[in-house]
Amino acid sequence: MFYSNHVKRISTLAQPIVSAWDHKPGFRILIFHHIVDLARFGNLLVYLQRHFTFKDPADSDQWGKGPGDILLSFDDVFSTNIQAAREVLNPMGLKALFFVLSDFVEAPSEQQKIILRNIFLKEMPPGEFQSPSWEDLRFLVHSGHTLGAHTRTHRLLTAIDDNAQLRKEIVGSGDILEERLGQPVRWFANPFGDMNSLDRRAYKIIEQRYDFCCTGLRGKNASGQRCLWREAINPALSDGYIRFVVSGGWDWLYRSRRHKTLLGIHDLESFSHA
Ligand SMILES: [Zn+2]
Repeated sequence: MFYSNHVKRISTLAQPIVSAWDHKPGFRILIFHHIVDLARFGNLLVYLQRHFTFKDPADSDQWGKGPGDILLSFDDVFSTNIQAAREVLNPMGLKALFFVLSDFVEAPSEQQKIILRNIFLKEMPPGEFQSPSWEDLRFLVHSGHTLGAHTRTHRLLTAIDDNAQLRKEIVGSGDILEERLGQPVRWFANPFGDMNSLDRRAYKIIEQRYDFCCTGLRGKNASGQRCLWREAINPALSDGYIRFVVSGGWDWLYRSRRHKTLLGIHDLESFSHA
């Protein structure tokens, strides 16, 4: 409903007002998935660079001080994301976060199918959704990008009753990446990222193992925050609409979802910071 042409047109017109409101220091994290059109992706980043400041996720002292700081992230990590790094991010000198499914990397085809089904639920994607190789991930690390864990197999964490299984998905994924790549893994993104995909039981394990937990709920982050909000971006939409989103145009819509998530993951009756 919110993505109708009508709403997009109004949101583009409202963009200057929203930008003027979004003046608090802090940072936003953009989420991309599979990149269909590398040229369009590159043009979008050039456009966003004119209005926002891209920061290196590895340098936490550098982000969150200005009003327009942005981190880039990719969830699931398909081979198209490696191409995006090679052909777009690296030439532009931009650094991003890549949230990898550890068991998807160089997985046998049967296992890939299971994981793809977990990602896309019932609808199976076309063949272009190829898994990355360990060599691809080493290339990302050598290019200065930051790798994070996105579980082992993209299961919905709140649906896993068995504690050992839950730990395996959360802790195991980061440990495998660290072991294979020889780099500390401090970032985690929970699959699906909506309000129902994170609970106290899962968050406790995430919090012990990682420095940051990235959700998919929209909102601006303050420095020092560990449960982070992110803005999902579809590069096929217009520059103006995406600028509206990245300026916090939908923050109001997600306020109660952020609040409920914080109540759900903390041992508190009420939580004022939403
Ligand atoms: Zn995912």
